[in-house]
Amino acid sequence: MSRRKLVVLSGAGISAESGIPTFRDADGLWEGHDVMEVASPQGWQRNPQLVLDFYNQRRKVARKVEPNRGHSILAELEEEFEVVIITQNVDDLHEKAGSSQVIHLHGELFKSRSTVDPSLIYDVEGWELNWGDTCEKGSQLRPHIVWFGEMVPMMEVAAVHAQQADIFIVVGTSLVVYPAAGLLDYVSSSVPKYIVDPNMPSVQSRPNLHLIEKIGSEGLQEVLERLF
Ligand code: NAD
Repeated sequence: MSRRKLVVLSGAGISAESGIPTFRDADGLWEGHDVMEVASPQGWQRNPQLVLDFYNQRRKVARKVEPNRGHSILAELEEEFEVVIITQNVDDLHEKAGSSQVIHLHGELFKSRSTVDPSLIYDVEGWELNWGDTCEKGSQLRPHIVWFGEMVPMMEVAAVHAQQADIFIVVGTSLVVYPAAGLLDYVSSSVPKYIVDPNMPSVQSRPNLHLIEKIGSEGLQEVLERLF
């Protein structure tokens, strides 16, 4: 018999207990920056050095932190379910915790991409990506991040997983960044949906919706208890 499919949409909040600050909790500033300065194509055009420095700092922090109990619970659920994690996070804490199917909707901090050929994607060793680092075609590398205003290429794949879900969990996202926030609408009405967040985002009421107003580790523990 095939295993039931459990699909998760995670956001910055699941990494908060690991010591990576969320974005909305800082009044819409990301580590003191207007997001459009550091996370938009216009920001990159205006000041690529600032953008490279910003992501270098994020990488420096992210490589030192460890996954928390929330990430581990999601990894352990693979013993029972087919688990697909759709994350808005650019850190690699789901992978570090042992999750094997992770879709990064907004890109990955530890990858870089050519500015002339988006199919050329490289691992960033260590934490630095610098002006003058180039792809094999000689063009500047940029962070492999989906910036505000850019297409979200993994969205279609994510939507198919959401449609196939037997159980759907949302954890640590303010559900304000689209198209990611719209994924809930792809989930069938008969499917149980759990939302875990200490500061519950406003969501349209729908059948089989369970709101758990707790931090990631505690809220996911509660989901675990309800599932078994
Ligand atoms: P967000 O910052 O908009 O929202 C964070 C949510 O997490 C809020 O609803 C908040 O109440 C909740 N939260 C705070 N502490 C929590 C905890 N301990 N446990 C569970 N939930 C907690 O994040 P978002 O919705 O993911 O959107 C922000 C965008 O910024 C994303 O596109 C993402 O790529 C980017 N970002 C990523 C990271 C990361 O990779 N770790 C960090 C900051 C921002």
